[in-house]
Amino acid sequence: MSSSETGDMPLEPLTADATIAAQTQPLSPIEEQDDNIHQDQEISHSDDDLAVFHADTDAAIKVESGEDLVEFKVIISNVTSASQVLNDLFYGDASEKLPNGTRVITLDDEPESLAILMNIMHFRFARVPKRPTVDQLYELTRLTSKYKCTHLVEPWAVAWTEQLSGFAHDKKATEDNYKAAWISWELGYEKLLREMTDSLVLNCKVDEHGDVIHPNGTKLRDLVLPPGFLDRIIEIRFNTLASILEQIQIPMDHLSHMKRLEKPGFCKRAEDDVAWCEAMLLGSSMPKLMQAGLFPVPPATSYRQSLQTLKSAVYDIEYKHWEGRKWAPHKSHTGCNLGLRDSIKSVLDQMANPVQQSHLGHLFKQAQITGVDGGGAGCLTRVPVSPAGGEGQSALLCAEAASTSIKTEIVHDDGLKDDEKTVSDAVDSVAAPKGDDEQSDTKSEMCGEHA
Ligand SMILES: [Zn+2]
Repeated sequence: MSSSETGDMPLEPLTADATIAAQTQPLSPIEEQDDNIHQDQEISHSDDDLAVFHADTDAAIKVESGEDLVEFKVIISNVTSASQVLNDLFYGDASEKLPNGTRVITLDDEPESLAILMNIMHFRFARVPKRPTVDQLYELTRLTSKYKCTHLVEPWAVAWTEQLSGFAHDKKATEDNYKAAWISWELGYEKLLREMTDSLVLNCKVDEHGDVIHPNGTKLRDLVLPPGFLDRIIEIRFNTLASILEQIQIPMDHLSHMKRLEKPGFCKRAEDDVAWCEAMLLGSSMPKLMQAGLFPVPPATSYRQSLQTLKSAVYDIEYKHWEGRKWAPHKSHTGCNLGLRDSIKSVLDQMANPVQQSHLGHLFKQAQITGVDGGGAGCLTRVPVSPAGGEGQSALLCAEAASTSIKTEIVHDDGLKDDEKTVSDAVDSVAAPKGDDEQSDTKSEMCGEHA
């Protein structure tokens, strides 16, 4: 695992009877104002409101965020009983003890999410967002991982993940895929983790130095990813790219007479004018392929665009068909194509998912803590019964068992998804043995009749 992956490996779940040095002391009733706050209300940033978590605070957490320094007034027994890590900080060398006995620690966390965590620890549940944003959840779950207190969000985790259940098809899914992947990893939400890691494989590209780059421009290795996922994402991207390029090379070799196929099947009519038809297919596919840097077909090591961009370029090919002016419609070659859509769809269908067997134990453990995914019930069904093929084989079975739909979703360079427009085309084309590069069902049928 790369040391640059900053995600903490989980985490023994805390239990209620964990040996936490809880200092018990009488608590004042929660201030009335808490009850008056609307459930969905954003956390206020006013210093008083943000910093004081109870009337009887006896410790402080200084939070450094950029140039800002916020002081959180807390009850030490609440904080230390909720998190062993924070307990160790408060009673370890890193803490400062003021003359009046007050203990102070300094953290460098994001203040707003730390405030949510402190609100939970101080039973100010009305201030916990019911519908947090992905950014809020990402920051918060980084803290629950860091301070080993995932159990604190159990009352909200199921609702939060349900809110994210359709996130894979959200406009921001590509941009925020690594954040949603992290949230899923921490809360034990396997489905979204698979979708988001597929999204990472599909949308990352490579810069001129060979670094894999997230769509937001950041180097993938500089992002917070669940442990072990960085190398796996890069490996799957490369292998998938190599397979797709191989599939593009086959018709190109045939049409350019470099390596003829015995039964090419690109022309559906297979009559005397096949050569004319193939010349039309080659000529009309060439502009899109060349514009996309796909002709001559490059080696996988030098193609730097994302798989999504590659897919869009191929899906955008418009074939000109060999067709005599006075031909009856059934004589034309409108169903003939290079079968590239089918090839790409097939490669993507078989693309492995970065979630491996070794990750399932963690997901299961987290789901048991949070109650997400039926408390891990869904995750259990992913564990292959017989590991006859060893760890690698198990992981493969596992990945195939839970294929995500976003792999074969069509997204163009402009970010627009094609699913509503062409999903029926894609389905028809999969069913049809003719190949799926043709847009028009009617035309394909006409050609098929006479093939
Ligand atoms: Zn033809």
